[in-house]
Amino acid sequence: MIKTKQFLIQCPQCGSEEFKIPENVQDEDLVICGFCNFEAPLHEIRAIGIEQAKQVVIPEAKKAIEDMLKKAFKGWKK
Ligand SMILES: [Zn+2]
Repeated sequence: MIKTKQFLIQCPQCGSEEFKIPENVQDEDLVICGFCNFEAPLHEIRAIGIEQAKQVVIPEAKKAIEDMLKKAFKGWKK
């Protein structure tokens, strides 16, 4: 049985976030892009997702740390 699921991972081919994922999917199972039918095993899709998450999360984390440091330094400037 195949169901479509929001995966929050973008298809490397078309950028769609909808993948068809088999029930009880295993790492070696193919997941299929619901838009362009790009196929890749789950572990590959997951690796792509981790890379994409890094690109999104790290700049945001950096900004949060910078803001925190700015506030900390402000306190010292009296
Ligand atoms: Zn696609």
